[in-house]
Amino acid sequence: MKTLLVSGPDGVRQAAALLAAGELAALPTETVYGLGASALDPIACARIFEAKQRPLSDPLIVHIPDESWLYRLADPVGCALDLALTFWPGPLTMVLPRSAEVPDIVTSGQDTVALRRSAHPVFQQVATAFGQPIAAPSANRFGRISPTSAAHVLEELDGAIPLILDGGPCSHGIESTIVAVEEHGLRILRHGPITEEQLSAFAPILSGSSDIAAPGNLKSHYAPRTPLTIADPSTPPPGRIGLLAFTAPVDGYAEVECLSPDGDLREAASRLFAAMRRLDNAGLDAIIAEPIPESGLGVAIMERLRKAAARE
Ligand code: AMP
Ligand code: MG
Repeated sequence: MKTLLVSGPDGVRQAAALLAAGELAALPTETVYGLGASALDPIACARIFEAKQRPLSDPLIVHIPDESWLYRLADPVGCALDLALTFWPGPLTMVLPRSAEVPDIVTSGQDTVALRRSAHPVFQQVATAFGQPIAAPSANRFGRISPTSAAHVLEELDGAIPLILDGGPCSHGIESTIVAVEEHGLRILRHGPITEEQLSAFAPILSGSSDIAAPGNLKSHYAPRTPLTIADPSTPPPGRIGLLAFTAPVDGYAEVECLSPDGDLREAASRLFAAMRRLDNAGLDAIIAEPIPESGLGVAIMERLRKAAARE
């Protein structure tokens, strides 16, 4: 299959037409690039799993064109509506009791569905033109680094999908926060741009075991092929080693990526996956990642680094 790289209003029209025909289109969102398919078309959704080589046990996030779909696809229990009014459109995914209209392949047979409304103007144009919910996990092969530009998507899925809609680099650069909304509280299933501090203003943050599992929470994910270790970078190990530094480079490394010279966590998050991908392609023996302070967005960044370092 030839993969077309398109942009602009024509690209938006082509992407919406492919979705309507039950085909795939890679689309920009404010977090990472998504691999979109019509969420109400089970065959189209199956193509996502096929192209990504994603296990069917890992459910898909559904992007809705407007809030009316919140009621159509789910039961907005607890503070779900308040969260939608506050953080949508934006990088928050809510896991809610599902309606019968959601195909089983989308939820991996679970009785919950994950919903989000993207703030990316190009994604919104496609969603409006298509007029239906779009299932869209990150547009990478399963377990690999999430793509934050159209070129990354091409690197991952060239020949496996018909079209990539280029909307420029993603502004957040890490995946959405996923929160399971329950009657009396919230469970954070994946840390992301909307922080625990922000969510705790709406309902108590629950911890401990829950019926709602986040099957995508494998220990190893977002992984480069080059072994990555989180460590104090001050003494470079022997060999051709790359450094993923937070603020400042250290001498003695073959390749260095600094996430944010000013120590700005937002900038660091937005550059994380592109920096990992560049180091991964630099023919290194290993990558050392400097630990990031774990407050605010730093929690989400460290969660990604630990998964990139895990080897199973
Ligand atoms: P992504 O691959 O970034 O689109 O993330 C999808 C992740 O969202 C999955 O791997 C799950 O962890 C989570 N998710 C999606 N749907 C559900 C659901 N119905 N219940 C719980 N978690 C979900
Ligand atoms: Mg993903």
